[in-house]
Amino acid sequence: MSEGGTADVVVLGAGIVGVSAALAARQRGLSVRLIDRREPGDETSYGNAGVLSSGSIFPLNKPSLFSALPHYLGNRHAALRWDPLWAARNAGWLVRFLANATPSRVKPRAIALHGLIETSLMLHRDWIVRADATARLRETGWLKAWRSDGAAAAKAEQALLAEYGIRSEVLDRQAISALEPGIVPAYRSGLLHTQTASVDSPGGVTKAYARMFAGSGGQIVQSEIRAIAPETDGWRALLASGAISARHVVVALGPWSAELLRPLGYRVPLAFERGYHQEFKPNPARRLSRPIHDADGSFVLTPMEIGIRVTSGVELTARDAPSSFAQLETVVPLARGVVEFGEAAGPVWRGARPTLPDSLPMIGQAPRHAGLWLAFGHQHIGFTTGPATGAAIAAMIAGAPPPFDVAPFSPGRYL
Ligand SMILES: Cc1cc2nc3c(=O)[nH]c(=O)nc-3n(C[C@H](O)[C@H](O)[C@H](O)COP(=O)(O)OP(=O)(O)OC[C@H]3O[C@@H](n4cnc5c(N)ncnc54)[C@H](O)[C@@H]3O)c2cc1C
Repeated sequence: MSEGGTADVVVLGAGIVGVSAALAARQRGLSVRLIDRREPGDETSYGNAGVLSSGSIFPLNKPSLFSALPHYLGNRHAALRWDPLWAARNAGWLVRFLANATPSRVKPRAIALHGLIETSLMLHRDWIVRADATARLRETGWLKAWRSDGAAAAKAEQALLAEYGIRSEVLDRQAISALEPGIVPAYRSGLLHTQTASVDSPGGVTKAYARMFAGSGGQIVQSEIRAIAPETDGWRALLASGAISARHVVVALGPWSAELLRPLGYRVPLAFERGYHQEFKPNPARRLSRPIHDADGSFVLTPMEIGIRVTSGVELTARDAPSSFAQLETVVPLARGVVEFGEAAGPVWRGARPTLPDSLPMIGQAPRHAGLWLAFGHQHIGFTTGPATGAAIAAMIAGAPPPFDVAPFSPGRYL
């Protein structure tokens, strides 16, 4: 069937960001088409660790990155691997990324991310109920845990978070065992992020929000998006299955966003912090109640609908470069040493966290094109921050004030 017709808004990409933008625009009474070549929530928004993180206000490029760099140079660390050829070709991006890790760049970005995250957590908690997916939500926090003596690090992190009103609890070995009796006592110290939640299927939650969008009269179109072109009164999305015209177009293509904008003269400095996961059959006698971030092992363990999901650290390389399983292979035995689990429940999954040099997403109108809205670059926290991003875009389209300060996320800072 060939697509055609018009809408107030066309949203490109049905990950958590696009689904949220479509839903929020529909909630404002606009006619909306949501387009993706796959089912909603089947890409990056499927494979993440499912953490709705209240405390992820300090991105990877923070001052402590400089002290960690010598450990990463040998390219053997589970937290971060990098492709030398990619690094040489993208030296400019790396320099800009590191320039944002200086102390003076911490606070403004933390304040910006805090506003985005707080709003988003409120929306997730509301939408997940309305979408009839409450059973997927766990209000059990998430635990950052140290095998080494991390008490000082835990206290320092707690104090930093407290400056922004984010609550956490420092735990010792006994307290960790009381909290998670199913794990072995591998950790000496921990920090429980008490206002953080998690879900047992981020893809399932994204799909539930997409169903809510469709149930409210929104239209989901499954098609490859080829290009967008300005028209006299808006935009035309050119699809493999036809074309749709709209006054507003929202680009929410996650790690695929930059190439669509190139023909319009925008060179988006988007890089990819790739990551992997694998799920394993759980041992029912060794239950896990919340995600655990192993600070020394550089992985996250999350109990999911299917099994225990182990997610790896960061791999800096081209988005579509061949997979390298080294990081996951390093951390899976460590994870198995924390909580007993069975054989793999599926193949290894790979995704790409889309990241701009300051680790803040773009949320706003393209500088030289009215009606072209950009909503991508959510790095490690896009599942958390999708709803507020969508709500802000929908508000701006409707001419209303966005629900948090969007100025730091302005696309104009790079375009
Ligand atoms: C290992 C890992 C762990 C993570 N853990 C967490 C976590 O615990 N908490 C958290 O908040 N975040 C986490 N993240 C980050 C989070 O997953 C991402 O930031 C977020 O999913 C990005 O969502 P998105 O909607 O921007 O992109 P996506 O979910 O990738 O959606 C983009 C969509 O665009 C579609 N698309 C692209 N090109 C085209 C085209 N040409 N035509 C048609 N459709 C197209 C794709 O099919 C896709 O559905 C993690 C990421 C990784 C990789």
